[in-house]
Amino acid sequence: MPFSTTIAGSLPKPAWLAEPERIFPTWRLEGPDLADAQRDATRIAVSEQLRAGIETVTDGEQSRRHFVHGFAERLGGVDALKRQNRGIRDDRYDAVCPTVTGEIRRTAPIHVEEMRFARTLTDGPLKITIPGPMTLVDTVVDEAYSSRAELGFAFARAIRDEIADLIAVGIDVVQLDEPAFNVYFDEVAAWGIDALDTALSGASCATAVHVCYGYGIPANVQWKANLGERWDQYAHVLPLLAKSQAEQISIELAGSHVPAEVLALAGDKIVAVGVIDVASERVETPDDVRATIELARRYLPDERIVCSTNCGMAPMNRDVAYAKLRALAEGALLASVGL
Ligand code: ZN
Repeated sequence: MPFSTTIAGSLPKPAWLAEPERIFPTWRLEGPDLADAQRDATRIAVSEQLRAGIETVTDGEQSRRHFVHGFAERLGGVDALKRQNRGIRDDRYDAVCPTVTGEIRRTAPIHVEEMRFARTLTDGPLKITIPGPMTLVDTVVDEAYSSRAELGFAFARAIRDEIADLIAVGIDVVQLDEPAFNVYFDEVAAWGIDALDTALSGASCATAVHVCYGYGIPANVQWKANLGERWDQYAHVLPLLAKSQAEQISIELAGSHVPAEVLALAGDKIVAVGVIDVASERVETPDDVRATIELARRYLPDERIVCSTNCGMAPMNRDVAYAKLRALAEGALLASVGL
């Protein structure tokens, strides 16, 4: 069996849908025209993944402006219009965030219609990405809860209810995105894993958690440049995630200073190894990808390796992102020769 392939989640949006190469772009259209254009963009995102040879596809997050805000702003208790500036990811960068003004309630399905549509586009495995509880906490301004943990569990219950409806429309994999896990190690141990497990409790589909060093935006690139020659964040996080309910852990490896031996800390989890660098416009060759997979194979048995991108590709150049999809699939195939 060749190595399985997937992507972390997002793909660039076409310029006719939203401002290109932005992490929080302005939509080009509104109302029914916007919804129609989002579906067209989803058709392209899914078909480009399939054309490249990616096995488990996503909707490319074509119907949300941002991977966190797209979920948070549609919850009861979140005032999407009361937007405030705050430092996020331990003040790595400032972001304008919605405000939690009351009890978090999931008053209506959030990404369910988008995925019902995406489901019609492929018979193969379909993955939905949802921000995890801690990343949600870290991307809002809280004026209602007494602690980050309390707010985190409120988000977790909303995610759990959303997942149940997503499974009903036929998704195969749910992935919670927790870049905040790579920042707040004490909180991951204190309540982050429990909140993650609350969100995933009852999920009858495959489950995954994505922990990364972020999009290839300047603030992240600068942060990474100051992390030194050996990035030991995963050495803190993976042993904790190994005890979580998530079946798969999606992490960054390509083009990074992540020491590959941390992969051995993932317990018995499947690891979606990032073999595509999203912080570089250079398109990997299939041989580059194969070499990264070979590195992972030193620490993981083949059956626990999935090949993925380091993170979402939303802010990238579109042609580069699509070329990277092809490199990912071709490299995974190359590494599979002889298996
Ligand atoms: Zn990521």
